Amino acid sequence: MPPIDTVLDPYFGLFIAAANDGAAPSLVRSSARPTSLPDPETGRPLRIATIEGPARAICPSCAASAEGGFVSFVGDLRLAYACPSCERLVWLPGA
Ligand SMILES: [Zn+2]
Repeated sequence: MPPIDTVLDPYFGLFIAAANDGAAPSLVRSSARPTSLPDPETGRPLRIATIEGPARAICPSCAASAEGGFVSFVGDLRLAYACPSCERLVWLPGA
């Protein structure tokens, strides 16, 4: 039996999928969420500034329009978009 930490949550516990009567998938903020996320390039923890969702957006990865979620960070201009269509966090370069 594998240890529980091998069960990967694509949203790192930040968001959970909401049931919404068969409409487009939607993500809502989780109540028990982390305060940081690992930097996808360095693995260094990035402190979370804001978590917003559900937010309608077009995913930069799969181009689906959906109610996803956005995460911003302290001292880092990048954003992460949680896509309910491709079920992963997509990192966006800072503006
Ligand atoms: Zn996507």
